[in-house]
Amino acid sequence: MKRTLITGAAGFLGSHLCDRFIKEGHHVIGMDNLITGDLKNIEHLFKLPNFEFYHHDVSKFIHVPGELDYILHFASPASPIDYLKIPIQTLKVGSLGIHNCLGLARVKNARVIIASTSEVYGDPHVHPQDEDYWGNVNPVGPRGVYDEAKRFQEAITMAYHTYHNVATRIVRIFNTYGPRMRLNDGRVLPAFIGQALRGEDLTIFGDGSQTRSFCYVDDLVEGIYRLLMSDYVQPVNVGNPSEITISQFAEEIIKLTGTTQKVVYKSLPTDDPKQRKPDITRARQILGWEPKVSREEGLKITYDYFKSLPDEVLYNYADHREFDSFKK
Ligand code: UDP
Repeated sequence: MKRTLITGAAGFLGSHLCDRFIKEGHHVIGMDNLITGDLKNIEHLFKLPNFEFYHHDVSKFIHVPGELDYILHFASPASPIDYLKIPIQTLKVGSLGIHNCLGLARVKNARVIIASTSEVYGDPHVHPQDEDYWGNVNPVGPRGVYDEAKRFQEAITMAYHTYHNVATRIVRIFNTYGPRMRLNDGRVLPAFIGQALRGEDLTIFGDGSQTRSFCYVDDLVEGIYRLLMSDYVQPVNVGNPSEITISQFAEEIIKLTGTTQKVVYKSLPTDDPKQRKPDITRARQILGWEPKVSREEGLKITYDYFKSLPDEVLYNYADHREFDSFKK
C-alpha cells in the first residue's frame, strides 16, 4: 500500500485530495494545524483504517514514522483576506513548511508535489498565462506574502530537485471552487453565494470588468493526480480556461440562486489582478488533461452544498469593512 502525506488535509483542496488518494487505495496521513482548515471536511475519513491525522504545523519540524511514497504540500492560507489576517503564517508555511516537506521527502525518498498558484503571475501582462511567463508581482503589496512565498516555494523545490535529486512536481493552480470552500473566506464565489443566501446585495469589487477562470474541484484533483504520477518536473498550469468577468459571474450567481437582491460596487483591493486565464496547452500535451465540468454544473453542486450549511456557518461571514486597509 502506498503511503501518502497530505499537508493542509483539512482544507478545501487538501480534503478533496485525501478523498481521492484514499479512493486510489493509498494509506493517507493528513496533516493540518487547523488555522484555516476545518476537521468537518475530513471527519468522514477518521473511521477508515487507511487514514490518520496529525494536528501539526508544517512550519515546524515534521516527523512521520514509517515509509512515505508521496508528499502533497497543500497547507497554506489561500484567500486575500487570510493573507491580510495571518501574513506571517502565510510566509512561513510557503517557506519553512516546504523546506520541512522537502527534507522529509529526501530522507523518505518520497515524491513531492507542491501547490503553487496563478498568483506567481501576479497582475499578468501576458494573457492567457503560460508557464514560461515569469509574472508581474508586487513583493511588498498585501498579496506579496502569498505570492512571494509561493515563488520561493517553487525555487526551493527546483533546488531540491537539481541539488538533492528529489522527485518533485509543481502544479500552478488557478481559481478553483466546489463544496467545502469556506463560506467566510472572502473569495468571490462563497461571498456571492453567501450574500444571496442571506438576502444581502452582491458586492462587486471595482467595476467588475476584471476576469477570472473558475475550475471545478474534481477537475483540479484529476489534474493534480495525473501530474504527480507523471515524470514531468517543470511547473504545469491546472485550471479551467473558460474566462468570465466578475460582473458576468455575479449575473450567473443571481440566476442560479434566484436572489432578488442587487449588485453593489465596492473599492477594488490593492493589486487585484485585472485578468486571469490559464493556458493549459502543457497540461493537455503532457497529462492528457482538460477540465470536464461546466461552470453551470459545478456551480449547481456548490450551491447545493452551501445551502445545506447550518445558519451559524452562514452568518459567520467575513465583514469586508474590516479590511479597508486592503483596498485602494
Ligand atoms: N471580488 C468581488 N466581490 C467579492 C469578493 C471578490 O468582486 O465579494 C472580486 C475580487 O476583487 C477579484 C475576484 O472577485 O477581482 C476574485 O477574487 P477572489 O478573492 O475570489 O480570488 P483572486 O483575486 O485571488 O483570484
